[in-house]
Amino acid sequence: MSKVTATESKPSSAIAGRFGAYGGRYVPETLMAALEELESAYAAAQADPAFTSELAYLLHHYAGRPTPLYHAARLTEFLGGAKIYLKREDLLHTGAHKINNCIGQGLLARRMGKRRIIAETGAGQHGVATATVCALFGMECVIYMGEEDMRRQELNVYRMRLLGAEVRGVSSGSATLKDAINEAMRDWVTNVRNTYFCMGSVLGAHPYPTMVRDFQKVISLEAHAQILEAEGRLPSAIIACVGGGSNAMGAFFEFIPDKNVRLIGVEAGGRGTGSGEHAARFQGGSPGVLQGTYSYVLQDDAGQVSLTHSVSAGLDYASVGPEHAALHDSGRAEYVSASDAEALHATVTLARMEGILPALESAHAVAEAMRLAPKLQRSDILLVNISGRGDKDMGILARELKLQGA
Ligand SMILES: *Cc1c(COP(=O)(O)O)cnc(C)c1O
Repeated sequence: MSKVTATESKPSSAIAGRFGAYGGRYVPETLMAALEELESAYAAAQADPAFTSELAYLLHHYAGRPTPLYHAARLTEFLGGAKIYLKREDLLHTGAHKINNCIGQGLLARRMGKRRIIAETGAGQHGVATATVCALFGMECVIYMGEEDMRRQELNVYRMRLLGAEVRGVSSGSATLKDAINEAMRDWVTNVRNTYFCMGSVLGAHPYPTMVRDFQKVISLEAHAQILEAEGRLPSAIIACVGGGSNAMGAFFEFIPDKNVRLIGVEAGGRGTGSGEHAARFQGGSPGVLQGTYSYVLQDDAGQVSLTHSVSAGLDYASVGPEHAALHDSGRAEYVSASDAEALHATVTLARMEGILPALESAHAVAEAMRLAPKLQRSDILLVNISGRGDKDMGILARELKLQGA
């Protein structure tokens, strides 16, 4: 781990894979050729109508796109301020936005002739989406998952195994996402010739952050058109939770040029501001290199990566996608946090007000909407990305809500 300051690097967004000073490709020499092969295969795929039309076909007929943009009328009334719209990524096949990216990378792997897919997973949602796509394409699938996450998301472990994937538990470090990525990287270095590494978020070395964002930007492509159709104008703000940052990048992307639209990312505030109690990289982190990319990292003064905590496994990661780091520093996007307790409260509120049970990750975005809406005018519009559904979190919800006496 090396602690690097922004001034030491030579920032240029003109360099492929750089977002301002952030991003890049910090990997062992053995992976350089694989990343270059991936970059050129991806460029060729993007330019090939057969690839883009098969992707569009599967997103529609298999995953269930376009997802609705739903006016949450009762929640809006209850909060008494801005009009709230929900982008319903929770309605997708496998229950979250992850499938958008996995279909894209699965098609790419097939094009590249790779028959073995490996992936890391935190909440298990990316593992489930990867295992699903491997079943769809008849590919071998190995998923690395931290043992702590396997406990928290037991149901997803069964789902992956039922889909035919091998789930390998990782017990090193904090036994969560960071450690699973390390193991998957080790596997990739060893088996790089026949293996495709399917990254689950806008993380890692170039071209992953750009490629994953491209596969997720369909969220804002649809939402941009949907809100114009519904309201004839753009929203005051887009709100999305930020783990690695893929659903947020997907939800923000098409709105970046619309300078009057605030882009608000919500990180995991966990149970406090101390080290190991949260995953708010933009509040407690500093620039550094983690797992192939230069971005904000929760680390100590020696560059040792800090432990993180969140009630939602999908937000429990020490770094964040490099494009978010650039959006943060330029001030184009704002990053706030919601605590475990606020996310749990938002989950109950959305369930009772709208009959929608959000994933605990998505509930962080709902919590921010609940804070912000009453401060805005009735003429304001908030667009909240519901990245996934809460079924996977029932065990945690049952435990945590009982503790709170709800
Ligand atoms: C994985 C996951 C997240 C966090 O990942 P991002 O890359 O930040 O989107 C958020 N919500 C859900 C439902 C997830 O499954």
